[in-house]
Amino acid sequence: MKTFTCKEIMNDASGCNMEFSDDTPMDVASQCGKHVASSTYAAHAPMRDKMMNPNHTQADREKWFTWFQGEWNKKAGV
Ligand SMILES: [Zn+2]
Repeated sequence: MKTFTCKEIMNDASGCNMEFSDDTPMDVASQCGKHVASSTYAAHAPMRDKMMNPNHTQADREKWFTWFQGEWNKKAGV
């Protein structure tokens, strides 16, 4: 189980201090995705724009997920 903050998931570019804990990077990413999608908080705008952008391709998503998986592997689990 690992814990990431919203901010860490956004690569410190933006986001809040909400924490997400789960056993796989995919589960943490999807928890944060729901959190961002259901919020109108301005700090989430960069991620929300990315998620809602119709030009955002599967390749873009995979690129982001590869980055996140690297961050996941660096972080110590509990
Ligand atoms: Zn957040």
